[in-house]
This record gives sequence, structure tokens and C-alpha cells, in this order.
Amino acid sequence: MSGELTTSELESFPALDWSDIAPRLSSPVRSAIEKVLETQNGADLSLEDSYALADSEGDDLLGLLVASNIVRAELVGNIVTYVVNRNINFTNICFVGCKFCAFSRGPRESDAYFLTLDQMAQKTVGAWQMGATEVCIQGGLPRDLPKFHYRDILRAVKNAVPGMHIHAFSPMEIVYGVELTGMALADYLSMLRDNGLGTLPGTAAEILDDGIRHILSANKLSTAQWVEVIRTAHRCGIRTTSTLMYGHAETSAHWVRQMRLLRDIQSETGGFTEFVPLGFVHWNTLLFQQGLARTGPTLAEHLKVHALARLLLAGSIPNIQVSWVKLNRHLSQLCLHAGANDYGGTLMEENISREAGATAGQYTSPEDFQSLILEMGRIPAERNTTYSRINLKLPPKNGEDCVTEHSFEAEFR
Ligand code: SF4
Repeated sequence: MSGELTTSELESFPALDWSDIAPRLSSPVRSAIEKVLETQNGADLSLEDSYALADSEGDDLLGLLVASNIVRAELVGNIVTYVVNRNINFTNICFVGCKFCAFSRGPRESDAYFLTLDQMAQKTVGAWQMGATEVCIQGGLPRDLPKFHYRDILRAVKNAVPGMHIHAFSPMEIVYGVELTGMALADYLSMLRDNGLGTLPGTAAEILDDGIRHILSANKLSTAQWVEVIRTAHRCGIRTTSTLMYGHAETSAHWVRQMRLLRDIQSETGGFTEFVPLGFVHWNTLLFQQGLARTGPTLAEHLKVHALARLLLAGSIPNIQVSWVKLNRHLSQLCLHAGANDYGGTLMEENISREAGATAGQYTSPEDFQSLILEMGRIPAERNTTYSRINLKLPPKNGEDCVTEHSFEAEFR
């Protein structure tokens, strides 16, 4: 089979064995995949191998998907994790003007909002009462933000719930905080850490190529700035996630270069907890309306990016997350068959993808995650933000509710 696969051909990959598909692969793709199957390490892939995988089509693509599932099982087993968390997007007022963003508003728009510190504290208390272990705090960048506002958010949240893990502030917000305070980057990050910042989302990465970044958002931080914030955070003991937004104006070569860059950073610092591919949601964005982007990722692209990440990041970043808000239930399960092992957060109040036209909803309950994971024949487990503790959630027995069986220090970091 060569060229474009039909939906049903693509969706058939979880039923294939490596021995079924291997004889049908082209020799460059088969040899690249066999290197990773043998060593479990994406460092063994050359740039040419990586491009061959990223451009795979037909049987080659099916082979990549099947191999990614094998490598996932060998590296992190059959557990699929999720974190119980709440999103707090504290303001939608933003001057940056990213063309892929349908969330931001001007300060005078009728639906512009800015949460007070008290309101954020209340949301944190409510989340804690519902079992959340993490709040994920990001917002727009309003002009004239009080100089130490990001620090003050941390204080308000920690005062309200000292035990809550705070996963907050994109590298773009960090650059803005540095600009507002005039502090050195390492000093600024250390101050946030000392006031309760647990981990940093590796968002605002989109595609780490300045040509593409200029199309997406001329005012956003540069690739070099993103890398500097991340490296400095890791050096300050603040771990981060890593992300890539696909399905807009980029090419497959950008995916490869970004994954290899993330590998390089990880080998220096070990600070990434996970990699999160983010499919572009195009409906309500200027980027799409101005004809600067394609109509979001195809099914083949969704699956390929997750599988490619599993192979290229093997031996480097152990956890590959599906962003369920941007995928539907079925597609997020397919991506978990294509190398991914984490469902992300319950979120409780997702706004950013919904405003761009995503329809997956604002909240997935832990019980929903558990049944989606069990449906796939995998083992659900609730994790903390850094994957250092996980609680297995086993299926109900004798009519009893789903119970936590035990918790242990996760093997993966
Ligand atoms: S993505 Fe973030 S920085 Fe860009 S316009 Fe939207 S809210 Fe502002």
C-alpha cells in the first residue's frame, strides 16, 4: 500500500503485528524503525532516518504506528496516566496578537475578564475539594500588569491551599515578568520557585523555528528565548513540559528538528517531564481565516506526530501526552495506541481550545478517563504532576467502585 491511506486503513493499525507489516516497508523506513526497536533509543536515528519516518505514507506509516506502540509498551508499560487538575486562565486580555489564538481579547471588549487574586484562591479551594492535586495557571498578557503579579498569584494560591502543586506561566509570561520587574531571568525564576511555583508549562513553543513563528505571531518570544527560559528553569530546579503545535504552516521537517532540539535540551538538563503534541484547532483563528494555515491536522498527521515523538524521544523523554481537548474520544484513544501513555489533566475549566472551535468539552472526569483507558485494555493510574507518584485505578470488582489499589514511586523518573 502506498500513498494516502483511507480512514479505515489507518484506524486498523492497532490490530497489526510487527511481523505483518515489516515485510511491506520500504528499506529506509524499516531500517530506521529497527534501530529503535533494537536499542529503545531515538538517539540512534540519523537526521535522514528521522525525515524518512516523518514523511512516511501508506504501509510505511502503518509500520511507524505499530512500532511506536511496541516501543511505548517496552519503555513505560501498559499504564495510562492522568492528573486531576484545574485550569485557571486568569485573564483573556492580551496584547501579543498570536494569529492562531481565539482566546485573547482587547481590554475594552465586552467579554474581556481579569480574575482577582481572591477569585483565583477560591477556584483553587474548590479544585482541592474536588480532589485536584494541581492547578494549571496561564493567561493572556495584559499591558500594565502589576510588576510582581505572577509572584502574587503564587502567594494567593499557596495561602489558600498549601498542598496544591502549581503548574504555571508559559515561557512567554516568564519573559514578560522579567521585562516588568527588570530582574535577571534566573533570579526571577528562583523568586517564583521560592513563592510556590512547582513546574512550568512548556507552552508558547508552537514551532521552534523563527520563520514559522513570524507567521504565527510576530510579537512572540523567539526560539532562542524559549530555549533560554526552559534551560534556566531546569537549572533552577523547575521542571517543565515540552510541546509542539502541528497542523498549520509547518512541515514535517519542523517536527523532526523540534524533537531533536528537545532531546538535546533533555540530555543537558533532564528537566522535561513529558512531551505534548498539540493539534492546531483552526476554526475561529485569524491564521486560518487569512489563508496562512491548512485546516488543522489530518488523521494521518495526528497519529504520525505522536508515533514519531515516541521513536525520536525514546530514551530521552519517557512520557508522551495526548491533548484530549483537541482530539475527540476515539482519536485520543488511537493516539494512545500510537506511542502515547498519558491523558493529561481533567482540566475542569478548559477555555483556550474551546474558543478556537474544539468540541471535546471543558472537563473529563477521572471516571471517564478510567473507562476510556480500560476500554483500550490498558491500566488507568492517577499521577502527580511530575510522575513521581502514581495510584493505579483498577476496575470495579463485585459491584464496588473503582478503587485505588496502591501507589508507588513511578519507574520512569
Ligand atoms: S496565545 Fe497567549 S500570548 Fe498569544 S494571543 Fe493568545 S493569550 Fe496572548
